[in-house]
This record gives sequence, C-alpha cells and structure tokens, in this order.
Amino acid sequence: TGITELLLSRIRDVADYPEPGVVFKDITPLLADPGAFAALTDALAEAAGRTGATKVVGLEARGFILGAPVALRAGLGFIPVRKAGKLPGATLSQAYDLEYGSAEIEVHAEDLTAGDRVLVVDDVLATGGTAEASLELIRRAGAEVAGLAVLMELGFLGGRARLEPALAGAPLEAL
Ligand code: IMP
Repeated sequence: TGITELLLSRIRDVADYPEPGVVFKDITPLLADPGAFAALTDALAEAAGRTGATKVVGLEARGFILGAPVALRAGLGFIPVRKAGKLPGATLSQAYDLEYGSAEIEVHAEDLTAGDRVLVVDDVLATGGTAEASLELIRRAGAEVAGLAVLMELGFLGGRARLEPALAGAPLEAL
C-alpha cells in the first residue's frame, strides 16, 4: 500500500551500527517528515482503536516519540516505561536478558491498574526481549494487554514467535 512505501522510504539503513555486522534501522528521517510522521501516527492510532485499548504505553526512548502522539490521537492516556532508575515514584520493575548481560525497565505502579487495557507502542521489534518484559510489567500491575503496535518488525530475529506466550492472543501489529 501507499503508506507502507512512504514509511519504508523514510527509514534509513545504517550499516555496522551500533556494532560491526548490525544494520540499524534509523527512523529519524521519518520523524523529520511531517507527512510521514502524521501517517504513522494515524496508522498506529487506528491500531489502538481496533484493540479497544484504554491506555498507551511507550517504551523508552523512541516508543515515547511515537507513543505520545498516538495516545493523543486515540484520546488515551500515555504511560512511559523507562529504563531503571529514571522514574521518581514507586515503581514495578522487570529485568530481562540481553545478548550480553541484562537490562531492567520500570513503570510507575500507580499508572496501571486492574481494568486497564494497554497497548504497547515502540519503533522497532527486534528479538522481542524489550516488548516481552513490558508485557510482563503490564500483567504484574494487574492490567490487561490489549496489544503491541510497532512501526517495523525485523522478522528474521524471531520476535513475533517469542512474544506469542506473552501476548496470549492479543494482536501484534507491525506496519
Ligand atoms: P529487542 O528487545 O531485541 O526487540 O529490541 C527492541 C528495542 O531495541 C526497541 O526498543 C528498539 O527501539 C531498539 N532497536 C533494536 N533494533 C533497532 C533498530 O534497528 N533500529 C531502531 N531501534 C532498534
């Protein structure tokens, strides 16, 4: 479709970043193009509507840039999931494994409660480790997972299959 081509044309491949052998998908050209950014926001907000989400969670840091306008467009509140140590209030945290070492993400405990249906928004789904940890956090907060919506899925890394248990039937939308 037209939107897929528009979005793809605004994503830049950067070879050997952040390390040799990796091709990084850089979305900054897309963000700099107001027409493409608006089309992306609209498409993700439509995904939010289809899931019946009541809140949007954005994953630090590019999930903030995409998730905030999506939440506004969909008429929903925006909740940041941050790297450990950045949120000032009482948090729930979730550790997850990286290729080398581990990482930890957090959410303000009071931001998600029973009765919430939460759509997670991020730019790129790679191995799925970050998204998986965010879905765990949402469930541990007592909320329901409405779905995961991303701009781009790197299919060869198998994130979709990895996320199947954590999504438990909730949709994964990759534009
Ligand atoms: P995962 O946990 O391996 O799925 O990695 C996903 C996280 O890393 C997301 O928060 C992305 O923003 C980031 N990420 C991984 N690969 C890329 C990329 O090629 N471009 C932009 N972000 C990426």
